[in-house]
Amino acid sequence: MAAATVSTQALQASVPAACGAPLEVDVDARLLDILACPVCKGPLRYERKQQLLICRGDRLAFPIREDIPVMLEDEARTLAPTDPLLES
Ligand SMILES: [Zn+2]
Repeated sequence: MAAATVSTQALQASVPAACGAPLEVDVDARLLDILACPVCKGPLRYERKQQLLICRGDRLAFPIREDIPVMLEDEARTLAPTDPLLES
């Protein structure tokens, strides 16, 4: 269980610090590349506003705390089938 979280700060550290362009999109894409649902191993959708990672297959919302996605089923919130987070 110890390796269940991934630090986004480690990802950002690999980007040249001198670059003045916004890096958010880049970091998001990298995050989603390496993160998968721990339950079904499927892809996750990043919900920037709410800082959640959504697995539509399992209807789980994994929290992101202090830039660290918490990829634990126990910490995830189960979404109702009608939850707007499951759309789009
Ligand atoms: Zn899943």
